[in-house]
Amino acid sequence: MSVIVLAEHQQGSFKKKSFEAVQYAAGIAQSLGTTTTAIVLGNASDSEMQQLGQYGANKVLQVADARLDNLSATAYAKAIIAAAEKEGAKVIVGSHDVTGKAVAPRVAAKMKAGMVAGAVSQPDLSKGFVVKKNVFSGKAFAFVNITSDVKVVTLMPNTFPVKKGEGSVSIEKLDVAFDDKDFAVQVKEVSKVTGTVPLSEAELVVSGGRGMKGPENWGILEDLAGSLGAALACSRPVADSHWRPHHEHVGQTGGTIRPNLYIAVGISGAIQHLAGVNGSKTIVVINKDPEAPFFKAADYGVVGDAAEVVPRLTAAIKKFKEGQH
Ligand SMILES: Cc1cc2nc3c(=O)[nH]c(=O)nc-3n(C[C@H](O)[C@H](O)[C@H](O)COP(=O)(O)OP(=O)(O)OC[C@H]3O[C@@H](n4cnc5c(N)ncnc54)[C@H](O)[C@@H]3O)c2cc1C
Repeated sequence: MSVIVLAEHQQGSFKKKSFEAVQYAAGIAQSLGTTTTAIVLGNASDSEMQQLGQYGANKVLQVADARLDNLSATAYAKAIIAAAEKEGAKVIVGSHDVTGKAVAPRVAAKMKAGMVAGAVSQPDLSKGFVVKKNVFSGKAFAFVNITSDVKVVTLMPNTFPVKKGEGSVSIEKLDVAFDDKDFAVQVKEVSKVTGTVPLSEAELVVSGGRGMKGPENWGILEDLAGSLGAALACSRPVADSHWRPHHEHVGQTGGTIRPNLYIAVGISGAIQHLAGVNGSKTIVVINKDPEAPFFKAADYGVVGDAAEVVPRLTAAIKKFKEGQH
């Protein structure tokens, strides 16, 4: 009766959010006195898969079908269910990302399992199987008790720091009989953003809003992000106006992020924006309007013009970093 967890990879390389999900699943397994099996779909090398042991997996079940190298929600769900049935798993874990959002509800529906999407805590087993999650655009928490026999949980990325340990895994292949229907929706092309820190995994984020006035002013935010090693994000109107690419848009209709530091520049702090960022550990707001709603959600605030404040902040950070060498 192990806990199973989907460990996603991209072209055979595992991302931080997969290690987070494995570590989370291992925490549940420990509380239940059982083991953790990671499911790997598609091609990944044994040495890459061995890393999952360092985050608490005991075993890897690999469905090494090349058609799974790209997401097919139907086929992924079928493979996970096959793995769950093989292992007799009662708890199935994934990451609350594009894949998890598409696959976990399918698995839950087929297995008649209760599901919590976007968990932010380890389940409290003293009162059943109670999982905490954000609700009402991050304004409140819900504590959801999953009472079904099989339970499905997706973990909000960046909720827990990952800790690399020792551990190793045994690797087993699992054959799943797919049919053409399982691949009815096919990925034709994948275009990836390269050369920057992926926003969903970034520990530090610098974000700009309409107060930046135009794309020509983004240079100061790029410099600030560069000085920190941060990723860039933006508010929705910025992406809608094509000042910045849509993958940088955060909020209710964009990405949800939980970095250690979120620096919001020229963003008013509408509830729809906060929905995507209010899980950030520390929020710094730079806005020229002292009444901007974002200041209510901020840990630190600077009232001032972005064009003056941001270059001074960047210079101070560079000076601080130079002093450290
Ligand atoms: C259904 C729905 C979903 C939505 N989803 C999202 C979403 O996912 N993400 C999102 O971001 N929004 C979303 N919105 C839009 C949201 O309601 C706000 O309109 C939007 O977040 C405002 O963006 P902004 O703060 O960049 O712009 P504004 O509201 O125009 O704010 C600009 C801010 O910049 C400040 N400013 C101006 N000049 C300067 C300067 N020189 N220096 C410093 N500060 C300056 C101003 O004081 C102001 O506070 C959604 C809306 C709806 C209805």
